[in-house]
Amino acid sequence: MRGAVLYGPRDVRFEERDEPKIIKPTDAVIRISSACVCGSDLWPYRGIQPIVQPTPMGHEYCGTVEAVGREVRNIKPGQFVVGSFATSDNSCIICQHGYQSSCVQREFMSGAQSPFLRVPLADGTLVPTPDVPSEDLIPSLLTLSDVMGTGWFAADAANVKPGSTVAVVGDGAVGLLGVLSAKQMGAKRIIAMSRHASRQKLAREFGATDIVEERGEAGVERIKEMTKRIGADSVLECVGTQESMTQAINSTRPGGYIGYVGVPHGVSLDGEQLFFSHVHLHGGPAPVRRYLPELIKLVLNGKINPGKVFDLSLPLDQVAEGYRAMDERRAIKTLLRPNGTK
Ligand SMILES: [Zn+2]
Repeated sequence: MRGAVLYGPRDVRFEERDEPKIIKPTDAVIRISSACVCGSDLWPYRGIQPIVQPTPMGHEYCGTVEAVGREVRNIKPGQFVVGSFATSDNSCIICQHGYQSSCVQREFMSGAQSPFLRVPLADGTLVPTPDVPSEDLIPSLLTLSDVMGTGWFAADAANVKPGSTVAVVGDGAVGLLGVLSAKQMGAKRIIAMSRHASRQKLAREFGATDIVEERGEAGVERIKEMTKRIGADSVLECVGTQESMTQAINSTRPGGYIGYVGVPHGVSLDGEQLFFSHVHLHGGPAPVRRYLPELIKLVLNGKINPGKVFDLSLPLDQVAEGYRAMDERRAIKTLLRPNGTK
């Protein structure tokens, strides 16, 4: 089979790879229905996170089970499944507390930008849908694997409740789905921070009530103006830079909550400032597996349509263009279809 492999900065190749097989008895192999490019794939793509060897790319996936190892009990060939970007046994103490993305047996997935994928710990990582879903639901189901699950975690970690005032820092796909999540959780006011017209439009479709174009200190000042100088109850930090983190902390009211899900790059926090800000900080790699059953239901019942974040759809063999379009911010998020499908 052929799949995406990253060789170095801005060097994604679509090339021959070994077809995945069952290696451990707890594995499954799935046929990918659709894959996509994640905002976090852009860190190594841009060379900010160095690549030491050619790396098969892609960690967001859904598809049909082709084969399972002999110890797999709940997942069966022919089922349609969605899985987390981080594997989990879903049984250790950490998993029982709902933090499957820090499972004692966790591995981070890669290689999903390919026609087939091996998924370790299949029983604890994958969640089957009740039936094989219709084609039009697949983009939304795919987002649950990471980007939607991460936006949901950001809102959950930021303690979004009915009536909350929420600010979302970052207008990438995660930030936009953070808006959708906050809306679904009953937030009254949702302020999306974005200066791009197409992203503002989608933020409003997902439930944003206000848009703030300013950034940094000016952005914080706007949030203060809009909240009687108090700050937002909940702030979703969906970027991972020093500026976005500082902006998030300074936009939160004392006693408020920050859900931070942007992978931090070069972020350091001042202890004294943090102490007097009086905020709750909760973030990390999203425990997507915890949310999958609920989010699958919301998609299948038509309550949420997170697949709208895909504004570019390409056949898998054009994966390099998919990265370029996101890197140059021509696309919010790229959907990759296996070749030969529409
Ligand atoms: Zn576990």
